[in-house]
Amino acid sequence: MSVKSIKASYLYTPKGIIEDGQIIIENDQIIDILDSSNALNNKIQDIEIKNNFILFPGFINTHCHLELTAVGPIPEHHLYSKDKSEFFVNWIQELVKSKNLLTEDEKIKGIKKGIDDLLLSGVTTLGDHVSFNTPLDPIINSPLKGKIFAETIGAIDEVSQDIYHHLCQIKENWQHDRFDYQVIPHSVHAVYPDTLKKCFNEQSSPLSCHLAESQAEFDYFDSKSGPMANLVRNMTGNLPYTSETGLDFINKTDLSLEKLLLIHGNYLSTDDFKLLADKSVSIVHCPGSWEYFKHQNFNLEGALNHHINIAIGTDSIASNTKLNFLHELKLIREKYPNLNAKTILDMATINGAKALEIDHQVGSIEIGKKADLVGFRIKNNEENPLDLPFTNEKVDFLMIDGKTYLS
Ligand SMILES: [Zn+2]
Repeated sequence: MSVKSIKASYLYTPKGIIEDGQIIIENDQIIDILDSSNALNNKIQDIEIKNNFILFPGFINTHCHLELTAVGPIPEHHLYSKDKSEFFVNWIQELVKSKNLLTEDEKIKGIKKGIDDLLLSGVTTLGDHVSFNTPLDPIINSPLKGKIFAETIGAIDEVSQDIYHHLCQIKENWQHDRFDYQVIPHSVHAVYPDTLKKCFNEQSSPLSCHLAESQAEFDYFDSKSGPMANLVRNMTGNLPYTSETGLDFINKTDLSLEKLLLIHGNYLSTDDFKLLADKSVSIVHCPGSWEYFKHQNFNLEGALNHHINIAIGTDSIASNTKLNFLHELKLIREKYPNLNAKTILDMATINGAKALEIDHQVGSIEIGKKADLVGFRIKNNEENPLDLPFTNEKVDFLMIDGKTYLS
């Protein structure tokens, strides 16, 4: 048994900011939190003192595709089109082409680089989408924890079934203490309906799924036309979905909507928000990716007014400028200046944990949770320490499972 502690000027906890706080850690877990009014526990010999630091729970990147790190940001001029839908579909085609050219070694190097970048920006927990052939070792051997979401994809019946069965086999043999392996649908439109139904009927939640992401997807369902509809028609000869939206299909087909973890949600109506709130579905907003594609306005206030749990994701670097979680926080702050820091910080921590259904383990500085902590040095006493995650590009302190990685 190893017991140690960290003292810091400020701790960000669910009970508010604790000044001159001390966190007691046994092995990988927080076992006590003390403030200056309690007698500080000085019997512990291993004390790390972080004067002029604020500590937060480790950040939770609820949506990412580490395997695409090797592709890098796809330059916008390669895809140039004034039409948003065309731009999006051009991006998909360019992405598939670039991804298919990657060697195993390049994929592995990319994943490792992506993990390093995420760690530097304070990410300790991850929801990562992978393909059927993604090398998983660099992810599960990293210090991170979370969920590996294995994507079922294929607008053609046989293709989606083959991939689904292959992923189910991997899942059957899966054993890991920090990462769950879950089989999920990539999206509605890119998965054949029968296989989508299987995902919802046979797999456990959360089913992390791209939904209501783009104008191209919206048009596919709404008018059965446009570049996305054409792309699917060229592959399959027809459109397998007749519903008005992807969400409409899940709801009207009586699939377990409450299992859904909705990634993006840029094209949702007020009625959609009502339905999602009713089923306690979380939404993951990806600000950098949203900006890259210039999607329709993400209605953050609308979602918050419906008390929907909103988490944050970087998405892949292929539709972003960098893989930096703090950059995402900064983008939200710039775009929604009326939101207070706490609302955004909770999206970056506890809300992500709730979305991934691991809030009993991570997402806040609380007794019984994992000792996953990130810290920022307070360089100027004039500044509000809660602003530091929005003004820094990297964390100054990083602890995962009680082990210090950056100090
Ligand atoms: Zn994605």
